[in-house]
Amino acid sequence: MENLSQASTVETVTCPFCGLLCDDLSVDRDSSGNLNVIENGCAKSITFFGRPVVTPSPRIAGKPVELKAAIAKAAEILGAAKQPLFSGLGTEVYGMRAVMNLAESTNATLDHMNSNGFMRNIQVVQNSGWLITTLTEVKNRMDLLVIVGTDIVSIFPRFFEREVWNKETMYGQDTSKREIVYLGGRDLDTSAGISPDGRKPEVLPCDMDKLPDVVSALRAIVLGKKLHATEVAGIAVADLEKLAQRMKAAKYSVTTWAAGTLAFPQAELTVQNVTELVKVLNKDTRAAGLPLGGIEGDMNANQVCTWISGYPMRTSYARSFPEHDSYHFSTDRQLSSNEADALFWVSSFNPDRTPPATNIPTVVFAHAQMKLEKEPEVFIPVGLPGADHRGIAFRSDNVVSLPLQQLRNSTLPTLAEVFSAIELTITNSALVASEDK
Ligand code: SF4
Repeated sequence: MENLSQASTVETVTCPFCGLLCDDLSVDRDSSGNLNVIENGCAKSITFFGRPVVTPSPRIAGKPVELKAAIAKAAEILGAAKQPLFSGLGTEVYGMRAVMNLAESTNATLDHMNSNGFMRNIQVVQNSGWLITTLTEVKNRMDLLVIVGTDIVSIFPRFFEREVWNKETMYGQDTSKREIVYLGGRDLDTSAGISPDGRKPEVLPCDMDKLPDVVSALRAIVLGKKLHATEVAGIAVADLEKLAQRMKAAKYSVTTWAAGTLAFPQAELTVQNVTELVKVLNKDTRAAGLPLGGIEGDMNANQVCTWISGYPMRTSYARSFPEHDSYHFSTDRQLSSNEADALFWVSSFNPDRTPPATNIPTVVFAHAQMKLEKEPEVFIPVGLPGADHRGIAFRSDNVVSLPLQQLRNSTLPTLAEVFSAIELTITNSALVASEDK
């Protein structure tokens, strides 16, 4: 068995910092547990793995305490709350399972820090369904990639390296011939779309808030409608017609978007126009959508919540059974309406994702390097999944889960351990109270 206290190089490490879950990294570990990505990393993974090891104490009202005391205080806050909100939820599968157990036993409401974007996709699935694909299919079959409103690489840095310009495919496709089209977003970095032999991608730029018009027009054209306008949001209709023809002629086009970047009103309708357009294309050829997600564990949270409760994020146990409502159970609304009376905030991957401002009692379970403007009632540093402890994470396409390795010894508890301990404390208090009666 490997000694995790010794300096060494760890091969085939899975990176949990975006939904690609690249599993080919090599990471150097020094004898203090500091990590350094030496092969197959991207800027994001180098930053996230490379944060120096710190192991701060848990705190109550800013004062360092033993973990046991912090857990007892968190249990006390939760026990006194009538409508607790568990949010952030940046964790892996085991952590999320423990979150669900505690939510169920304490009537909590659940929301993820990325839900504003994720719900745009969920609403489309609930309303009309969709036809989407996997990263493996993209890697092996895609011949035309239409990218809507994102450069992809700012959220998935190695997407083109691993899924588009990959050298090998299962069916001998020459991936350098793949065609790339960017739709929308004037300031997108489109350099990753340049093929290995120097062919530039096609870029049809528009302001982001005009993207709904452009996608609607493209859907209409794919449906065979004739537009009377000559341009939409600055894009010539003739260019959209050419794009529609390319999509129809492709053997396997993939249209992709990142719901989190579609930050304009009713963006779910734009997602729906994309997915409905894809359905139409499938009458004559093969085409699929590819929603991009998987940041801060949003896929993990949604998968676990769905298989346990039957619903995705924004599900509440306030009435002792799971109820889903994408509007009422959002973190923003729970806090602004004063419905939530305690906030449990989880961010174990990213120290920069701090809790929203609120005056209700707050317990933060976070990456050890999180710095908070306002000291919460309780702060409990937890281990980084995939570095301080093992775990499981879901890839962006939601169909593949990968194991996360422990890369170093750590004194930090896992989120699962802390939430399970809080649940046990509450259960024991209830037993003592009932025996006292
Ligand atoms: S692309 Fe994503 S999963 Fe791959 S190494 Fe970079 S951050 Fe990690």
